[in-house]
Amino acid sequence: MGPKKYDIVVIGAGIIGLSTAMKLLERCPNLNVAVIEKNATEGTQQSGHNSGVIHSGIYYRPGSFKAEFCVAGRASMTKFCEENEIPVWTCGKLIVATDAAGEERLTTLEQRGTENRVEGLRFVDQDEMSEIEPHVVARKALYAPGTGIVDYRNVTAAYADRVRNSGGQIFFNTELNGSKRVSGSTILETTAGDYETANVINCAGLHSDIVAETMGVNTGLRIIPFRGEYYKLRKESEHLVKGLIYPVPDPAFPFLGVHLTQTMKGWVEAGPNAVLATKREGYRKRDFAFSEFLRTITFPGFWKMGLREWKTGVWEINRSLRKGVFLKSLQQLVPELTADDLAGTGSGVRAQAVDRSGKLVDDFRIEQSDGAIHVLNAPSPGATSSLVIGDYVADMAEKDFSLSPVVSSAVS
Ligand SMILES: Cc1cc2nc3c(=O)[nH]c(=O)nc-3n(C[C@H](O)[C@H](O)[C@H](O)COP(=O)(O)OP(=O)(O)OC[C@H]3O[C@@H](n4cnc5c(N)ncnc54)[C@H](O)[C@@H]3O)c2cc1C
Repeated sequence: MGPKKYDIVVIGAGIIGLSTAMKLLERCPNLNVAVIEKNATEGTQQSGHNSGVIHSGIYYRPGSFKAEFCVAGRASMTKFCEENEIPVWTCGKLIVATDAAGEERLTTLEQRGTENRVEGLRFVDQDEMSEIEPHVVARKALYAPGTGIVDYRNVTAAYADRVRNSGGQIFFNTELNGSKRVSGSTILETTAGDYETANVINCAGLHSDIVAETMGVNTGLRIIPFRGEYYKLRKESEHLVKGLIYPVPDPAFPFLGVHLTQTMKGWVEAGPNAVLATKREGYRKRDFAFSEFLRTITFPGFWKMGLREWKTGVWEINRSLRKGVFLKSLQQLVPELTADDLAGTGSGVRAQAVDRSGKLVDDFRIEQSDGAIHVLNAPSPGATSSLVIGDYVADMAEKDFSLSPVVSSAVS
């Protein structure tokens, strides 16, 4: 039997791959679309291990993809969840400054958020701050009432249903490990046999750089995995957090700093930090994959980043290993918290692209190659923005792949 034939194969059944497949099928219902996923179900990686926040778009450089996609993404995500009966809670977010330097950065943040047209964003006085979050102690606070929470595992599952209901196919336990171009088509070699397709969309998250390389594309980027570790608050301590409490982030990094978040998963999370992971899907401290670690340390950008940011790296490792140090970061937000309030743990691993100069790529990065589109950097707020990213990639596909009935029937 020859390879299965498709118009488009999407690699990765995370929230971005499935949103993309869904958007393609909404536009071109006759398109023969397959999604291949190496794991046994959808959303097992970043899409199933995140903070669950529907961000409102405050942090991102005005005019960037992140700023535009996040603001539009919040609205579309909230609407999608309402339409699909996925529980969402618009609980609001308080960003707090506890020292003079933080106050100054908070002012800059407010200007940024206002420029990005974040709905309802405003400074609150001490009385209102105490009303919103009675256990916070801070010098200044910025409030984003439109920020919400959702369980993105539910959203990812709903996208998968939509893909199937629109005629798309999702193949699990199917890992891409080779590819070749043969007279205008691509043969994808997977653990479940070959797939022949006119076009490919790489949404492989933590492995997107490897998938691009497999397809002969040198992106100049490397995914460096950063584990984010959480504590959970004890049930009896959950009253200390009403909604979302964040510090003012360090503008040098794309990470938001350890925060306190209500979740739709039934607990309150404290974290995540950002520690270099020695395995791409390394959810535990002891997880190590020699070949993946080698890929990290043989990339010139890794050493350039390390030389510049080693102090932050050492500080993060210290905070990861010592609960007391983690607690101190949380006490900056809610001083009443004690070590006894922190019970269980959890983690996620961020796919952060780094370039050859050692710069952490801040914005979403989506590139095109012959017969393919690659989503190369889609960290937070990627889940919030997933519907908008899906639309953007579908737009690109329509143009780059010249999607038309001719293409639709070419290989199917
Ligand atoms: C700790 C943490 C907290 C976050 N918090 C938030 C938040 O609060 N709000 C927000 O908006 N965003 C948040 N994010 C970001 C968000 O989770 C991501 O932007 C989003 O999940 C990215 O989705 P994805 O589909 O690109 O990646 P993934 O979910 O990682 O999916 C990629 C898929 O590709 C598959 N795959 C990889 N290689 C192959 C291969 N060779 N063959 C077949 N399949 C393959 C993987 O198994 C995986 O299922 C957070 C992320 C982390 C890690």
